[in-house]
Amino acid sequence: MHEFKYKDNQLYCEGLKVENLAQTFGTPLYVYSYETLTGHYLRLKEAFQGVNPLICYSVKANSNLALLKALVKLGAGLDIVSGGELERAHRAGCPSRKIVYASVGKTDQEISAALTSGILFFNVESLAELANINRIAGSKGVNCRVAIRINPDVEAKTHKFITTGKITNKFGIDLNRAYQILLLRKKFENVSICGLHIHIGSQITTAEPFVGAIKKVTSFINKLKLKGIILEYLNIGGGLGIIYDRETPQTASKYAQKILPLLRATGLKIIMEPGRFIAGNSGILVAKVLYIKPTPKKKFIIVDAGMNDLVRPALYGAYHQILPLKGKARGKGKEELADVVGPICESGDFLAKHRLVAKVKEGEYIAVFGAGAYGFSMSSNYNSRMRAAEVLVHKNKVFIIRKRETFSDLIRNEVIPDFLKGKK
Ligand SMILES: *Cc1c(COP(=O)(O)O)cnc(C)c1O
Repeated sequence: MHEFKYKDNQLYCEGLKVENLAQTFGTPLYVYSYETLTGHYLRLKEAFQGVNPLICYSVKANSNLALLKALVKLGAGLDIVSGGELERAHRAGCPSRKIVYASVGKTDQEISAALTSGILFFNVESLAELANINRIAGSKGVNCRVAIRINPDVEAKTHKFITTGKITNKFGIDLNRAYQILLLRKKFENVSICGLHIHIGSQITTAEPFVGAIKKVTSFINKLKLKGIILEYLNIGGGLGIIYDRETPQTASKYAQKILPLLRATGLKIIMEPGRFIAGNSGILVAKVLYIKPTPKKKFIIVDAGMNDLVRPALYGAYHQILPLKGKARGKGKEELADVVGPICESGDFLAKHRLVAKVKEGEYIAVFGAGAYGFSMSSNYNSRMRAAEVLVHKNKVFIIRKRETFSDLIRNEVIPDFLKGKK
């Protein structure tokens, strides 16, 4: 479900023609739909109203302040993974009591900042980290809450770079070790262990891995009860998949049907951390066709957006649907087999490989769909390219939410030492 639709052979985002946006703001350009972004949040909230969860949008999926603010205004909390994201959460006006913080490598400064701000809890990923949080809380004379991130050792059935709940992944703590830690919980006198956390991976399209993981933690919760250890929260993480190609991911309500009974049975307060599900289909990346290059073996469509703008194809071999802004919806116009590539000096710099794509000419624009999550937030300045501009469309209005970078942004922090200055 998204608000990018063709009308009279022109792609629109809500009420605006995307081609006009490309001409006004230049390319590469990220275009987001407010309606789609907030709609996904509201749909998830409604599907799970039976347990009234705190939905903490995962900031890393797309951390633009305007998008964070849009979700925070609707009541969303935020899931953060760094001190930088903590700052963003504050800038977006998120109450500290709606912030949860996961990461295997929280630094002392990051822990200290989160303690000062009084976040809801840390998702703790190792015994060493728990001891460190306890030490820092003690030195500041504060108490804090943590949830133990469990590694439930389940197969998430997704790309191997985005599974996080197998025992060979670096995330979370295995059940045996977690049990030992909980038995010793009194040793960590400045920390109260208030819950469990799981996040088993991303772009998961069936309920089965979630069900498996939740069942495992449920029996663990019961085992703890027998020892008199009563928890308050269960954080089930994110990971819900979206449609990039021909996937048929479960809808929010189908997903809820499968796991709501399990969640209710725990009797705990539920936290969710969706990222991709909320942001993924709410953004497109618009690029201009620079050159068409036929070669003896294949045809290349060279566009002005590259792996520095959208790294998912290069990083995971990810599929993104690509359509011209002007033209017919998928499968209705003339198509040709081609690679859609960027200008970067790497053969891994492609947006689509060996793909039937609509025929386009130099100077025309294309849209890369499903670019709202892990698109801009993973972008870089590689090849000294300025990062793209981002705009937000709300009905018939467009708002710039991140200006295109300039050359001075690019070199802002670089310093030429004195001994290299001068003529020779
Ligand atoms: C990345 C991440 C998420 C969000 O994952 P999605 O697949 O985008 O929903 C949630 N929780 C944690 C701890 C994460 O690291």
